[in-house]
Amino acid sequence: AKDKGRDNAQFFTPKMASIVSKKFGFEKEINEALLLEQFHLVFQPQAFMGKENIVALEALIRWDHPTKGIISPAEFIPIAEESSLIMKIDEWVIDQALKQQKSWQDQGLALVPVAINLSGRHLVSDSLVPYISKKLKDYGIKGGLLEIEITEGVLLQDIERCIDVMAELKILNIKISVDDFGTGYSSLSYLKRLSLDTLKIDKSFVEECDLHTEDTSICEAIIHLARNLNLTVVAEGVETVSQVRVLKSLGCEIFQGYYYYKPMKNDQIVCLLAKTHSE
Ligand code: C2E
Ligand code: CA
Ligand code: CA
Ligand code: CA
Repeated sequence: AKDKGRDNAQFFTPKMASIVSKKFGFEKEINEALLLEQFHLVFQPQAFMGKENIVALEALIRWDHPTKGIISPAEFIPIAEESSLIMKIDEWVIDQALKQQKSWQDQGLALVPVAINLSGRHLVSDSLVPYISKKLKDYGIKGGLLEIEITEGVLLQDIERCIDVMAELKILNIKISVDDFGTGYSSLSYLKRLSLDTLKIDKSFVEECDLHTEDTSICEAIIHLARNLNLTVVAEGVETVSQVRVLKSLGCEIFQGYYYYKPMKNDQIVCLLAKTHSE
């Protein structure tokens, strides 16, 4: 449409202009945020059976905006994903997460894998594996202490390329999770072709798993599927004891959600890991 030039100008309404300028303004701000170090990571623990046993931490990005306060990733990640900005953010997240692991390692804390969210664009790019392996080496962190979360939809866009990249990540011993599992409405045949470790049950199914038999059944099916494929299963967005009871009765053992822990800053994570260590 771009090359049709001026003839199309009549379709470009003031409303569209305002949306576009807002978007580009936002992109510029995201760029500045990277330079001015306005991002930080928080970490949400995944608990095995009870609160005491932490088996992983998911890194979640936050933006301390100078005037708007803390902005949720749900607001800016989708915009960043429309341009190459997402690559810069993803690389920042990988760097920060591994830097944090190094600091916890230096403090002699009991380490657990840190899971990061990667965009699809980044997963299939040539630069991901070299970048990660360099960072692991620079910080002296074992690949087994890094986990990558990819949403189901992303895996289906370019399955052959995903298979190759994941095989390379496996060589580095990096773990791979399918995020928001069950929302992709897809054929499941891809599951056996990819080197996966974990399925994360989307929180939309967890939310009412104790109230509606449809949701209970979907959780049950995912838990059985994971078991039969020899994958770990994690329930995310767990908020109540009643959800935990139902999910446990279905065979789920790992939980992530406000019922156990909210995403936390570094200092709280240090306390938590220190407690785990002394037990
Ligand atoms: P996600 O990967 O599905 O992350 C889980 C989201 O659920 C997080 O929201 C988390 O704070 C929230 N959550 C955790 N437990 C509960 C609960 O019990 N109840 C409810 N209602 N919510 C819970 P958050 O941090 O706002 O992140 C939103 C999304 O933004 C993430 O969804 C992920 O897709 C994306 N995202 C977050 N951090 C990053 C990042 O560093 N890089 C990229 N590419 N995407 C990110
Ligand atoms: Ca995630
Ligand atoms: Ca998720
Ligand atoms: Ca999500």
